[in-house]
Amino acid sequence: MPISENMVQEIVQEVMAKMQIADAPAGKHGIFKDMNDAIEAAKKSQAIVKKMSMDQREKILTCIRKKIRENAEVLARMGVDETGMGNVGDKILKHHLVADKTPGTEDITTTAWSGDRGLTLIEMGPFGVIGAITPCTNPSETILCNTIGMLAGGNTVVFNPHPQAIKTSIYAINLLNEASLEAGGPDNIAVTVEKPTLETSNIMMKHKDIPLIAATGGPGVVTAVLSSGKRGIGAGAGNPPAVVDETADIRKAAQDIVNGCTFDNNLPCIAEKEIVAVSSIVDELMHYLVTENDCYLASKEEQDKLTEVVLAGGRLNRKCVGRDARTLLSMIGVEVPANIRCIVFEGPKEHPLIATELMMPILGVVRAKDFDDAVEQAVWLEHGNRHSAHIHSKNIDNITKYAKAIDTAILVKNAPSYAALGFGGEGYCTFTIASRTGEGLTSASTFTKRRRCVMSDSLCIR
Ligand code: NAD
Repeated sequence: MPISENMVQEIVQEVMAKMQIADAPAGKHGIFKDMNDAIEAAKKSQAIVKKMSMDQREKILTCIRKKIRENAEVLARMGVDETGMGNVGDKILKHHLVADKTPGTEDITTTAWSGDRGLTLIEMGPFGVIGAITPCTNPSETILCNTIGMLAGGNTVVFNPHPQAIKTSIYAINLLNEASLEAGGPDNIAVTVEKPTLETSNIMMKHKDIPLIAATGGPGVVTAVLSSGKRGIGAGAGNPPAVVDETADIRKAAQDIVNGCTFDNNLPCIAEKEIVAVSSIVDELMHYLVTENDCYLASKEEQDKLTEVVLAGGRLNRKCVGRDARTLLSMIGVEVPANIRCIVFEGPKEHPLIATELMMPILGVVRAKDFDDAVEQAVWLEHGNRHSAHIHSKNIDNITKYAKAIDTAILVKNAPSYAALGFGGEGYCTFTIASRTGEGLTSASTFTKRRRCVMSDSLCIR
């Protein structure tokens, strides 16, 4: 059938409409010029939320989940375009994970003691308005995930997002409020300012109406929040090592590690950042990494060039964070086929590309003389973050020894790191892993206060 001019016009209009969706200004819901006004609006909204039934809260959450699924691709593209980090396909998956596996009101439970002296309950109540600081590595994922948990707990939330991801963050916040309004809830369940800065962050941290701050980011922001005088939930940096011993399925270990390491170009804080392998299987592991898993083996000279670019002047070059392996290699003048997805090399644990949390698909392999040495080197590489670690082994004594020594919030055995987020593993999803302050993988209950409710000598009807 020949294509008429009208049909061409229709197709052009359809494409233009889609482009406008992706570029649309973020809308107005929840976006303020002034941080104090944003907090005031969230406070009014919380006064409404706290009177709502759990069922009403859950209706809003259902609508939020629906909107996340509908907007997963728009948010993924926007995040990649704005920050230059990560890849669209994996970011779409991350948004679906947030929509499907972030706990809602079912996480708010009651503990009861009933006996001769009556009935005592522990109920989880809201804090009120929570302040949240979010990273540029998972901008909308963190905002959406935090809001689901915080709202399920009866709170509203004020965000101070990373300035480099403000467009994406505003889009997500607008979406959350649209969902609330559509489900009969209030506007401003989540709010932010048009231009977040350290100053707006300080206003939020010191504000009398913010009793709790959840910080997701590097060591600087967690320290700032823990020095604020407020209660803080600190989800800080990691540098997760993947240990491989001689009992592992080496072929599968290579595949799992590369899959985890390259997910969203290594942006997740839980992703494998280096391998520590016992000497007897290092060559076999390297063989599988290179021949079956699209890894590029970097020469000593290429490692030096990469170090100069990636850690220019001894500091992490933000222009390299979240880039794919081919782009990183092209920055040092190395062109590789399209299938290459990870850069590997063998080096000592002190190698700057191994010891530093790079957040890019560069995977150094450290040789250990035996398992005890592997554990010692992995603990050193984790830098006491107590964040995430991974192991490939079939020896439960080895796994137990490693788990006790490394003492991290997350330890994945015989799977890619993202199994810890419920992706190909059991359990719920979060993008705020409170490594520093010990809450671990946050969920709705993390954002509540425990309150004891005592009825003396009554209501026990046994
Ligand atoms: P970043 O530390 O540069 O920024 C995070 C947020 O903190 C941003 O909103 C930023 O504006 C703010 N910030 C930074 N310093 C601050 C200060 N002194 N006072 C107030 N606010 C401040 O981190 P990033 O590059 O956006 O994200 C990557 C880092 O975050 C990595 O270290 C990664 O491991 C970590 N991270 C941790 C988790 C977790 O759940 N534990 C999740 C994602 C990212």
